[in-house]
Amino acid sequence: MKKFSWDARLRRAEQLASAYLFAAEILRFYLPLARFQKELDRHLRASCKPAANSVENSALRQPLDLPLLLPRFSPFLSVIASAAPSPLAQLSRDLLQEGSGAWSVLLADYWKTGQRSESMAENPRLFFPRAFLQPYAEFLAEHTAASVTGPAPRLCPVCGGLPQCGVLRQEGDGAKRSLLCSLCATEWDYRRIVCPACEKAGRLYRRRIQTPSPGSLRHLPRLHHHRGSHPGRLRRSRRR
Ligand SMILES: [Zn+2]
Repeated sequence: MKKFSWDARLRRAEQLASAYLFAAEILRFYLPLARFQKELDRHLRASCKPAANSVENSALRQPLDLPLLLPRFSPFLSVIASAAPSPLAQLSRDLLQEGSGAWSVLLADYWKTGQRSESMAENPRLFFPRAFLQPYAEFLAEHTAASVTGPAPRLCPVCGGLPQCGVLRQEGDGAKRSLLCSLCATEWDYRRIVCPACEKAGRLYRRRIQTPSPGSLRHLPRLHHHRGSHPGRLRRSRRR
């Protein structure tokens, strides 16, 4: 599945910021972040030659190339400090004070364990390695073969990360579901009647985001049996 280019993401954010004022603040923060990510992606493609495809599961998470990445982390923190909402900007300034030793530990630890557990979302400092390493993860994923044996996995077949959301794409008279990795943006097919959280089939509950996205995509951030685990607007799907 072809991924969205950085330019396409920037254009999309600009369109949405103009059309939806309630989301303009977060989108205006996203724009300088995505410009930084685009430049980091360009730097990686010019400097880095990934090893040949590997079929080993989670092979993408080989030791982090800190000599390549670390010099870019301070400029990244400066972008966040100047563009982010106040609490995140302050966290960024705090991290800038900690120096390269602490940054190395933060990045390397995240690279080993990031996006493998939902509890990671509870630590706001993990925003920084996640956003910074996203272009690196996507770049390596382009050169890493997915490892799938047996039924479709609930975790990313390239990096072992949790899915960020589900995607329905029109196919024939119906729709086909896939999951989108929260770390490396790999998209892989997943059975539509199976819950990705507990891997059981049956009646699912769905929280639907009505997105004015191009084409017929509908992004479903959670599909789960356990209605109580998703406070907020929930919508019962029809039984399949
Ligand atoms: Zn992945």
